[in-house]
Amino acid sequence: MNTKESRRLFAKAQKVIPGGVNSPVRAFRNVNGEPLFFRAGEGAWLTDADGNRYVDYVAAFGPLILGHGHPAVLAALQTQLQQGLGYGACTAAEVDLAERLCELLPALEQVRLVTSGTEATMSAIRLARGFTGRDSVVKFEGCYHGHADGLLVKAGSGALTHGKPDSAGVPPAYSSLTHVLPYNDADAVSQLFAEAGNNIACIIVEPVAGNMNCVPPVEGFLQHLRQVCTQYGALLIFDEVMTGFRVGLGGAQGRYGVSPDLMTLGKVIGGGLPVGAFGGRREVMAQVAPLGPVYQAGTLSGSPLAVAAGLAMLQVISEPGFYENLEARAAGLLAELRQLAQTAGVPFTTTHVGAMFGCFFCEAVPAGEEENPISTFQQVMACDSARFQTFFHAMLAGGVYLAPSPYEAAFISAAHGDAEIEHTLKAAAAAFKAVAKSMK
Ligand code: PLP
Repeated sequence: MNTKESRRLFAKAQKVIPGGVNSPVRAFRNVNGEPLFFRAGEGAWLTDADGNRYVDYVAAFGPLILGHGHPAVLAALQTQLQQGLGYGACTAAEVDLAERLCELLPALEQVRLVTSGTEATMSAIRLARGFTGRDSVVKFEGCYHGHADGLLVKAGSGALTHGKPDSAGVPPAYSSLTHVLPYNDADAVSQLFAEAGNNIACIIVEPVAGNMNCVPPVEGFLQHLRQVCTQYGALLIFDEVMTGFRVGLGGAQGRYGVSPDLMTLGKVIGGGLPVGAFGGRREVMAQVAPLGPVYQAGTLSGSPLAVAAGLAMLQVISEPGFYENLEARAAGLLAELRQLAQTAGVPFTTTHVGAMFGCFFCEAVPAGEEENPISTFQQVMACDSARFQTFFHAMLAGGVYLAPSPYEAAFISAAHGDAEIEHTLKAAAAAFKAVAKSMK
């Protein structure tokens, strides 16, 4: 595969952009390589700077559930472009989008549009603190909620320890307000609340974890979080930046039948443009400025372009059967991948919720025995990253673009048709053989 132009661009980029990338997840460090540079996306396909084409399972890290350049989204954008890029003032379309979101998502009575997922989670946490008058926050190991200071914390040494920062530049005083617990561990949640529940403002959780690969909630986990928050007067925040309109039209909250007090959105609701949102119970949202004392603002909030793209996207994905088709297509693809791995003699399993899924090179779990056999951060960490690396590069060579890390979920779009699946399976057959060879 010729990647000369990507390599030239990467060398140039490194001179003026730290690490040559505008977000670290784009670097190929987790797969020991150099990032590709892309020049076009069309349907399920990406074209890189050298003209190589790939079936895309990154979908811009989630937003592109219709694939690249869906005609309805492009038409909405073209109409808005003629009318201006933004006014720093109110528009009818932002009200339409807010109304639609409130109709579709059980937890939303009011919603505020922002510009990124990070801004949404940061604002939701501030609001939870303002509403409850409490300082501490609970998050789970392996869950990512954007890069606000107090959320850049992973697990400390035990369930009840205070967090320590993941990033330089975060004062320990901030991160000491963040408790980190093991994902899917209801007992650890009960224990922490029994000890410190009266100072906990909120639990924030990815209702399907998508930033340690794809790890679904075990039965009863989300319900337990709901019950504990209600008991102790803390707020439950579902970070649905990734799962919102990815795992179903009602998000994870609709799928699992658990209603949080607050929720965050991003990715899909902007149709591929920069956007985020947070919202929830009216009584809580009444604390947000200008109604209440919790300040939050944004020059580009409710960008008419992002709103137009989001509304067009929501219209298409609301069509009957949209999610059923996507989910069936993902399930079919994963069953074939597990079969190919088994044939090649490679320990491998998958997880899957709606239009997001995970692939794991994992010894511990026999392939295909349960629908979602991975449920903990430790299981994810026990997977073989060298095998993933081999698989990733072989898939790339076969014309399939996966996220360049074993810790990212994968995304399927409505543009992935029979031809794209067939192309993927052909590449995967060769890639599993390459992994098998590396195991000898
Ligand atoms: N929350 C979750 C669950 C995410 O997956 C992400 C980004 O991947 C964020 C928050 C942060 O969103 P953004 O990258 O738009 O700031």
